[in-house]
Amino acid sequence: MSLSVSRCVAVTLAALLTLVTTACGGEKAGERPPGAARTVVALTFDDGWATQSTAAELLRKHHLTGTFYINSGFLGRPKRLTKAQVDGLVAAGNEIGGHTLTHPRLPTLPEAAQRREICDDRRALIDMGYKPRSFAYPYGMFDATTMTLARECGYDSARRSGGIAPPSDPCPKCARSEDVTRTDHYRLRSLPAVRATVTLDTLKEYVTQAEKRGGGLVTYQFHNVCDGCDPFGVSPRVLDGLLGWLAASGVQVRLFGDVVGGPFRPAPPAHTGAGPAPRLSAGA
Ligand SMILES: [Zn+2]
Repeated sequence: MSLSVSRCVAVTLAALLTLVTTACGGEKAGERPPGAARTVVALTFDDGWATQSTAAELLRKHHLTGTFYINSGFLGRPKRLTKAQVDGLVAAGNEIGGHTLTHPRLPTLPEAAQRREICDDRRALIDMGYKPRSFAYPYGMFDATTMTLARECGYDSARRSGGIAPPSDPCPKCARSEDVTRTDHYRLRSLPAVRATVTLDTLKEYVTQAEKRGGGLVTYQFHNVCDGCDPFGVSPRVLDGLLGWLAASGVQVRLFGDVVGGPFRPAPPAHTGAGPAPRLSAGA
């Protein structure tokens, strides 16, 4: 218990330091309002869709990096990124996180099956040469068991799907950003999954609404990057506009794992429980 508490304190301090460093780095006094300096943006991409190669090009164009939550069981399948493409993401400075083997609704599974989905996926990513620190819950679904397993499998954080209110919601008590110094690192909020109908102005407003309320972490959650291929596919034109605006605005854009987590942790011992290997399905 004391070890985990110490670690928690250490991680919290590290996260705080990151935010403080971020707040002090490269900003001239008076250039932005005080709250703006404390705003950090994380760009996250889920499911390893092949169209995310377009995101990689746009990130490179704007000298930014993002976090890609990959399902190792889908790598190289039709419409998914290939191993070579993921290697390219890493070479460009992007982060590879875990998203389970087969993208199940984790809380509906027995604990042993959940453990295989999370731990075996992370181990597969490590065996492929990656250093996954960050995890995202498929469909944003989790419970207390899932949270514990994400930690036990060696992840430093787990990202939910949503929890940050859209700018159109006037709710006075709704979260406009995440505070990684206060929130459990295995239930960190993001924007709702970006839909094909989103406008560039709305995406910008997520940052400006956080700035008005003292900053914090604003995590975008993207899936496909395309025009008309998916209700959750962001238009490359809109993503290009957002990245260009972020790059020009001075808002800090960081890898999710750098904002939240500590150093990479090796894989836990191999799963020794009974039961068949999870069946790979094509769902996402
Ligand atoms: Zn997903």
